[in-house]
Amino acid sequence: AKAKGKNTYHFYSKELNAAANERLYIENELRQGIRDSQFHLHYQPQVDSRDGRILGFEALVRWTHPVQGPISPFKFIPIAEATGLIVELGEWVMREACAFSARRAKAGLEANVSVNLSARQFQDANLIATMSKTLRESGIAPDKLHLELTESMLMGDVDTAISQLLEMKRLGVSISIDDFGTGYSSLSYLKRFPVDVLKVDRSFVQDIPEDSNDMEITAAIIAMAQKLNLNVVAEGVETKEQMEFLKANNCFIVQGYYFSRPLEEGAVNALPEHLEVE
Ligand code: C2E
Ligand code: CA
Ligand code: CA
Ligand code: CA
Repeated sequence: AKAKGKNTYHFYSKELNAAANERLYIENELRQGIRDSQFHLHYQPQVDSRDGRILGFEALVRWTHPVQGPISPFKFIPIAEATGLIVELGEWVMREACAFSARRAKAGLEANVSVNLSARQFQDANLIATMSKTLRESGIAPDKLHLELTESMLMGDVDTAISQLLEMKRLGVSISIDDFGTGYSSLSYLKRFPVDVLKVDRSFVQDIPEDSNDMEITAAIIAMAQKLNLNVVAEGVETKEQMEFLKANNCFIVQGYYFSRPLEEGAVNALPEHLEVE
C-alpha cells in the first residue's frame, strides 16, 4: 500500500498517525482512569423467556472520561488488552461484580453475575489466585460467579486452556462461551472443555426472522447445546418475534434490549423479580 504514489502514501500515513495517536491517547488516559476510578459497571438482566423471571446479570464495564464523556468498551477494551492494562481493569471488574452479587444476596435478591474475561486475563498466571481471593473477600457463594470466555481464547493451546478451566471450576464458578458460533471451535474440542453455558452470538439473533440461515444456525446451536448438556443463553434479543423463536426452539435464557438495557445498580435493584414483556 505504501508504494502507490505520493498522495496515497500521504493519505495512509496521515490516517495511520491519527489512529496511532488516538490509541496512545486512550492508553494514557486508561492508566489515569484506572487510578482515578473513572470506571463503573452496568448490569444487564438475563431473563427466563417463559415467565420473565430475572435469572442473573451480565456485568459490563463503563468508562466516563472527564473530558471525552462515555467511551465505548468496543473502543477501549482492545487497547486495554493490547497494553495489558486489562489485567488490572479486569481484576477491578471482578471485585466490583462480586461485591454487587454480595449486596444482592444480602438483600435477598437474585445474585448471579456474569463477568467477561479477556484473553490476556485467561493467560495470566495469577488469575486463579486472584479469583479465589476475590471470591473469599466478597463472601459470595462461588456458584454465583459466571465467567464469559470466547472460543478463540480456548482454541490456541487447548490442553493449557482445559487445565485453566478445570482450576476455575474447582473454585466453584461456572463458565460460559461467549459469542458462540463466531469462532472456529470444533465440536470435538467443545466436548472436552469443562464449560456450562453457550451464549449464542448476537449476530445470529439480530436478523431473526428475516435471515433463514441465521435461524437455522441458532436452532442448531441450541440443539447441540442440549445434546452436550449445556445451558444456552441468547444475547441481543431485541424483539418479541426473536424471543418467541428462541422459546419455540427451547432456548429459555435470553438477554437483550427487548427486556432491558444494561442498567446502573440502583436501577437494577428497583426491577421486579419478573420483567413484564409485551
Ligand atoms: P459482549 O460480551 O458480547 O457484551 C454484549 C454487548 O451487547 C454489550 O455491549 C451490551 O450492552 C450489548 N447488548 C446487549 N443487548 C443488546 C441488544 O439487544 N442489542 C444490541 N445491539 N446490543 C446489545 P457493551 O457493553 O458495549 O460491550 C461491548 C463488548 O465489550 C462486550 O461484548 C465485551 O466483549 C466487552 N466488554 C464489556 N465489558 C467488559 C469487561 O468488563 N471485561 C472485558 N474483558 N470485556 C468487556
Ligand atoms: Ca459477554
Ligand atoms: Ca457476547
Ligand atoms: Ca457479541
